[in-house]
Amino acid sequence: MLDELFVYILAVSIASILSFLLFLYAQFRLKDAPGAHPYMLATLFSAVFTFSYALELSSTSLERMIFWLNIEYLVLPFIPVFIFLMCLEYTGLKLKQRKRLLLFIVPIITIFIHGTNELHRLYYTSIQLNNDGPFPTLKLEHGPWFYVHSLFLFMCLMMSVIVLLSQLKKAASFRFRMQIILMTAGILTPIIANYYYVNGLSPHGIDLGPVSMSISFLFHGAALVSYQMFNVTPIARDTVFEKMKNGVIVLNQNGMIVDYNDAMLAIIPALNSQSIGKSIVDAVGKTGPLAEIFMLERECDYEICRDEERVYFQIQFSTVTNKNNYEIGKIITFVDVTEKVDLQKKLKTLASIDGLSQVYNRTFFMQESERVIGSLNGRDVSIIMFDIDHFKKINDTFGHEAGDKVLTHIASTAKESLRTNDIMGRYGGEEFIICLPDTSLTEAYELAQSIRVRISQHSTTYYNDEIYVTSSFGISSALIRKEDSHNTLEVLIREADQALYESKSKGRNYVAIYEDI
Ligand code: GH3
Ligand code: MG
Ligand code: MG
Repeated sequence: MLDELFVYILAVSIASILSFLLFLYAQFRLKDAPGAHPYMLATLFSAVFTFSYALELSSTSLERMIFWLNIEYLVLPFIPVFIFLMCLEYTGLKLKQRKRLLLFIVPIITIFIHGTNELHRLYYTSIQLNNDGPFPTLKLEHGPWFYVHSLFLFMCLMMSVIVLLSQLKKAASFRFRMQIILMTAGILTPIIANYYYVNGLSPHGIDLGPVSMSISFLFHGAALVSYQMFNVTPIARDTVFEKMKNGVIVLNQNGMIVDYNDAMLAIIPALNSQSIGKSIVDAVGKTGPLAEIFMLERECDYEICRDEERVYFQIQFSTVTNKNNYEIGKIITFVDVTEKVDLQKKLKTLASIDGLSQVYNRTFFMQESERVIGSLNGRDVSIIMFDIDHFKKINDTFGHEAGDKVLTHIASTAKESLRTNDIMGRYGGEEFIICLPDTSLTEAYELAQSIRVRISQHSTTYYNDEIYVTSSFGISSALIRKEDSHNTLEVLIREADQALYESKSKGRNYVAIYEDI
């Protein structure tokens, strides 16, 4: 019989040591993990409680038993509060400081009432030594405050379970769900043990609570450890890694793919779960443009077409090192710079387009034409210049606003006849210029004639007026030679201008060719 007592005392002592070891572990390893602080207090208090209970069990006199019982009750009432606070913290819920303090009111009253029970018997109506069993135990008749304390304890644990289960639905990952289930199991363990004890189902009326409490802290500890070790990482990974617009690939030191995020799939559709463990170059295909970029680790711009829209990325390489500065991997980031590039393009357009006529301004026309002519070695280029006839009269007759409208209309009419490679600009007030790469003089002449006819036939509507205008054209043309291409444009413009002058003198609404004058 005493052996049985010995085994039980041993079990309670081990439970006490277990609680203390969990406390130490939390102290050194969990530190600032969510819920770790209340967990530390709960395990420490539990260690004191179970240790005192072991001593209560090993006592033989009523006085000594009551002495240890009083020690137990200095710490026990706080434990459910700590468990509740731990669950709140663990699930990311916060209580205001004042509400937190309110939770300690019942435990403090319990300690006070328990300690002064002799005076009022509110906690125990009677305390006797029970010698009926194989070894002496305390026979306690409970007073009203015992039930208040029990209800409070039960409520704390139930609230903890509710808090945990309410988060279960929201828990995105299987791992986090498992942790919540572990936590819940930890809370239910002492409740079940208590059920056995209260209903007289435990052997020899032994309180299973203290042992079950230490076991429950094993569950909680496991959940906290895995929270710290795994859960923060996937949450951070989910939010930062997966939801980011930038594509990220993680490589190990051998250049093998370890991980990549969702954004990466839109950039390199060839990536899939089988790419993990493969070399990055193999995964993207050895011949593609990316293979070279990855092999040379070249930080550069990269452009893709997604849903018929251009998306621009800046590829960056960064090294991952461990604590000893030893390279353990690499991160390749595709930074989405589409907005920046689009803005730059817009600014460039704004700087290059003439606001009124919507064709290039003179500066941009010159730049573009020079660039194009520079690439035309051994090929033809022609220049058309045209000027609206008697435009002053239009302004004088219909007003400046009408003149503006005519100007815009003429520019768009001319533009409609051009090919994509042709470059059109506003050269001066109502004078336009067109650079035609790979266009012979004859072709340029035909084009100019067709524009001339179109302009003369298409009126501009201004309120009730239909304004008809004509234009005069001058054409020049040249075969580009690499050696002298740099001053060709200036020469061609001068010649076209002279031809235009010739058109004016020929009576206007005319196309003159420089070579013919
Ligand atoms: P010509 O047939 O010889 O070319 O006669 P013209 O009247 O067109 O003579 P010129 O080219 O010398 O005059 C151009 C006029 O165009 C002068 C100016 O008032 C007008 N003009 C220049 N720029 C603008 C503009 O942006 N808007 C308007 N409404 N008029 C302009
Ligand atoms: Mg004019
Ligand atoms: Mg003019």
